[in-house]
Amino acid sequence: MNDTFKHKGMRLQLVSTLKSKGITNENVLKAIAKIPRHLFMDSGFLDHAYQDKAFPIAADQTISQPYTVAFQSELLQVKRGDKVLEIGTGSGYQTAVLCELGAKVFSIERQQELFKKTSKFLPKLGYRAKKLVFGDGYKGMVEEAPFASIIVTAGAPFVPKPLLAQLEIGGRLVIPVGDNVQTMTLFVRKGSKEFEKTELGEFRFVPLLEDKN
Ligand code: SAH
Repeated sequence: MNDTFKHKGMRLQLVSTLKSKGITNENVLKAIAKIPRHLFMDSGFLDHAYQDKAFPIAADQTISQPYTVAFQSELLQVKRGDKVLEIGTGSGYQTAVLCELGAKVFSIERQQELFKKTSKFLPKLGYRAKKLVFGDGYKGMVEEAPFASIIVTAGAPFVPKPLLAQLEIGGRLVIPVGDNVQTMTLFVRKGSKEFEKTELGEFRFVPLLEDKN
């Protein structure tokens, strides 16, 4: 497993594709230019790592499409030192993007095989999340709340109340909501009980499942 000039070149191509699709946040683009996405994928898909597509990872899950990762990351408006909660660690690619953005990352995965694999893998690349947890993302991580932002990387049939409750005032929740197709939804916490909601187009994710296995 290594990262070559060829890979770096393909990443720059991917970055220009993302720019052409409307991604403008320089820090997000820099993170994508830097992170070796091919190392987060199973060997059968290495040749496709820098296409703007989702691909299978272990346990019937997927590594999100780079455009989706960039779009959600941009919406979070991460500032260095922010506490960010991710629901659905999966391959760890989105976790790595958040680390590159300078976030203190807390991430939850419900699939044990993926949790174990990714917990071992991320530190090898030098990405140190504050906490990786095997658990149920519907509950959030109350002991570490409040968060500056929360990102859900699986399709949620509804908006889990604990996630809204664990945002700081001014905090942002980015969550794809829906069953077969999801509407990317941004909630900004304006007060203890006030949330501003914005809907931002349709995406497709694997489902956010109840409880862990
Ligand atoms: N961020 C990941 C995306 C993985 S796909 C990446 O960049 O690779 C979504 C992930 O959410 C899957 O790994 C799935 O197992 C996980 N997931 C589904 N329901 C969950 C839940 N209730 N709590 C935590 N993780 C969940």
